[in-house]
Amino acid sequence: MSALRSHKLARPHHVCQHCAATSSQGLTMYVSTAQLQGLMPPINTHNCKSCTHSSIDIKHLCIRLLLLQLRIFYLKRKINGRISRTNAPKEGLWMGCQGLLWCSLSIQFLQKVLSPTLFLPLIWSVLLAYNLNDFEQQCRATGEKDVAFKVMYCGICHSDLHNLKNEWGTSTYPLVPGHEIVGVVTEVGSKVQKFKVGDKVGVGCMVGSCHSCDNCANNLENYCPKMVLTYKVKYYDGTTTYGGYCDKMVADEHFVVRIPDNLPLDGGAPLLCAGITVYSPLKYFGLDKPGMHAGVVGLGGLGHVAVKFAKAMGVKVTVISTSPNKKEEAIEHLGADSFLVSRNQDEMQAATNTLDGIIDTVSAPHPLLPLIGLLKTNGKLVLVGAPDKPPELPIFPLLMGRKIVAGSAIGGMKETQEMINFAAKHNISADIEVIPIDYVNTAMERLSKADVKYRFVIDIGNTLKSTSSI
Ligand SMILES: [Zn+2]
Ligand SMILES: [Zn+2]
Repeated sequence: MSALRSHKLARPHHVCQHCAATSSQGLTMYVSTAQLQGLMPPINTHNCKSCTHSSIDIKHLCIRLLLLQLRIFYLKRKINGRISRTNAPKEGLWMGCQGLLWCSLSIQFLQKVLSPTLFLPLIWSVLLAYNLNDFEQQCRATGEKDVAFKVMYCGICHSDLHNLKNEWGTSTYPLVPGHEIVGVVTEVGSKVQKFKVGDKVGVGCMVGSCHSCDNCANNLENYCPKMVLTYKVKYYDGTTTYGGYCDKMVADEHFVVRIPDNLPLDGGAPLLCAGITVYSPLKYFGLDKPGMHAGVVGLGGLGHVAVKFAKAMGVKVTVISTSPNKKEEAIEHLGADSFLVSRNQDEMQAATNTLDGIIDTVSAPHPLLPLIGLLKTNGKLVLVGAPDKPPELPIFPLLMGRKIVAGSAIGGMKETQEMINFAAKHNISADIEVIPIDYVNTAMERLSKADVKYRFVIDIGNTLKSTSSI
């Protein structure tokens, strides 16, 4: 991801036409919708630091928006009129907003006024354009090593929101998010050995890897350079991968895990991303042994399952959060042993040199120095969230205690199955809010405000009407 982000930073320098200052503060905006296939390359805008003027190439933007309009018109006809029937009021509003946007743009274009107020209608348009709507996707045919299953539940991971908005610059549209997918097998290929029709199964963040590199040989498919993500990328056969916000999945059996009978399908779904993301570093960094003392930073989708896994491993757990009102929840409900408010200097000071390791789940930029201070000698700070700005990393506190700052991303398939089995054995599942599919856009809005405890899970099986017989 860092490579892709640097692509953004490496955009050509812009010259402000108002003060002639050159700046590399180029900002990339994407206008697209989940239904629109690759129609909108980035629109370049420029915020000038020297004169605080914002500018945009209006002509360029108008042409692109015209193409967008044509494409929307074309696709809406293509999607069987389902959108216009079910979402008539919303569609009317959407078209009205676009009309306003066009008036605003035309007037500003004609007057050649490059005003920052342009951004208001533009952002409005962008927000509306990111809504998820019906989209009929084609699954690939079930190959000889493939498992096809009816999707019952799919968790909403924070990365779904990032991808939907193309915040990492890697999304392609149409985009069907979802990589916490559970369901029931409906068909298996002739060479499938592990599964049969009727089995409960799950698919997490990846659906393919090369099977020949060192990582693959060591059950670390998640670090295979040719790993195929569950959605938004090209599969080996050239088709685009689509995630679990749909009624059917087809996946190579190697990337399918068995869901034990006693693990609830809805609460179990988020374990396929959130669960393995925290389980794997707890194991790898040796924070899974009774007597260890682990910190968990951030009490969200990842953090709350980290507490549950660590407690089940017999580890003493301290939750570290900016929000003091999560204390009761962390201790009473999730079973953490103690709680630190990261902004409370006295509390943090008193806890210096107490932790063997920390799982840091926070994906917003935050200082690492106070966390490093909590570590004992040889302590490990493991980052599993992905802030969009690199953190400041003070080296001296690392030297004085031989401390490690590390990263970790999900886990291999063998370990994912092990994690699911461990969860089933210890009755671990995510705390969830189950929603119908037509609530998904509201859920995304709430997720962007962290207004969920702790994971939305879409009830696909009961609320997404299948358009094809499975
Ligand atoms: Zn995820
Ligand atoms: Zn590989």
